[in-house]
Amino acid sequence: MTAPGPRLRRALEGIPSYKPGRSATSATGRPTYKLSSNEYPFPPPPELVDAVRRAAETINRYPDLTSGRLVAKLSERLGVPTSHLAVGTGSVALLYHLLHAVCEPGDEVIYAWRSFEAYPVAAQVAGATRIEVPLTPDARLDLDAMAERVTDRTRAILVCTPNNPTGPVVHHDELAAFLARVPTDVLVLVDEAYLEFVRDPNAADALALYREHPNVCLLRTFSKAYCLANLRVGYAIAHEPVADALRACAPPFAVSSLAEEAALAALACEDVLLAAVERLVEERRRVAVALREYGFDVPATEANFVWLPLGDEAEVFAAACEAEGVIVRTFAGDGCRISIGEQKANDLVLEVAARWASSRGLSSRDHR
Ligand SMILES: *Cc1c(COP(=O)(O)O)cnc(C)c1O
Repeated sequence: MTAPGPRLRRALEGIPSYKPGRSATSATGRPTYKLSSNEYPFPPPPELVDAVRRAAETINRYPDLTSGRLVAKLSERLGVPTSHLAVGTGSVALLYHLLHAVCEPGDEVIYAWRSFEAYPVAAQVAGATRIEVPLTPDARLDLDAMAERVTDRTRAILVCTPNNPTGPVVHHDELAAFLARVPTDVLVLVDEAYLEFVRDPNAADALALYREHPNVCLLRTFSKAYCLANLRVGYAIAHEPVADALRACAPPFAVSSLAEEAALAALACEDVLLAAVERLVEERRRVAVALREYGFDVPATEANFVWLPLGDEAEVFAAACEAEGVIVRTFAGDGCRISIGEQKANDLVLEVAARWASSRGLSSRDHR
């Protein structure tokens, strides 16, 4: 007989686990491409690697508690006070801290579904009740439906724009109308992980809306366009009470000086990184246009990925990609999210898609 182990919080029962995108492992010796995690697909610029090497000289010392140099740099670039900024180990960590800061057990967190896989986990870890609001038929956030779900228990609403994994952005007028409707004591988190990939002129200017609304908090990251997924660094922009609460909920010294120096170096060589982002945006257009020509129903995407709503065939499509050396992200029974990568990788995806379309008799008649 074994004695019972420590009692765990009831909120953790049945918690969904976060499933990372699979890594590319080559059994065949042929190149494989990881298009499953929306990463920056090119090698890091040497400036970034050098910054990390230099920072490695001081790994015996604790980092700067506040990431002060990075905060100062962001403050200057964004035109927001340093007191409105909080740096953390990726924007997902910031999300966890913020939900801890606002949720009592049984409070409600609203988000769209399907959206980012981390949301249900973060909401449940915070002890909150998850309120999932279906996307519209064209895979966009339904902000009206989300606003209708607000109750006295609602403490946070998560707005992912562009939405991972489907791709569309929230438009400015939609977000402004939504914020006018949501009570000001509800935290609205705008997750802008893919901001640098957005080209739609009607996309929400969330930074402008944060300036007008004390309940808005933006989450941004160095993990995608800024090439630093492995170093874990992101930041939140929020009015002081929210930013203070976030800092209070974060463990001290979480952001290493390797991460801080790399983020500063990434901002310093932004022209190189954003030129790569521009190439990815062009590739995104090429891939989306081709997929629609083959007859796939691809939602408008403003991120570094495309969504294929394949339903029950998602896993079969992913296996066909894998046979060609491309790992995509599968949401069983729903669809595949395919990151935009190097041109060669994107070409392989299109080859698989073209064969798939002709074998299933997809028609390109009504593509736009
Ligand atoms: C990738 C991603 C993030 C970034 O996470 P980090 O913790 O900063 O690496 C945040 N939100 C969404 C929707 C994402 O897809």
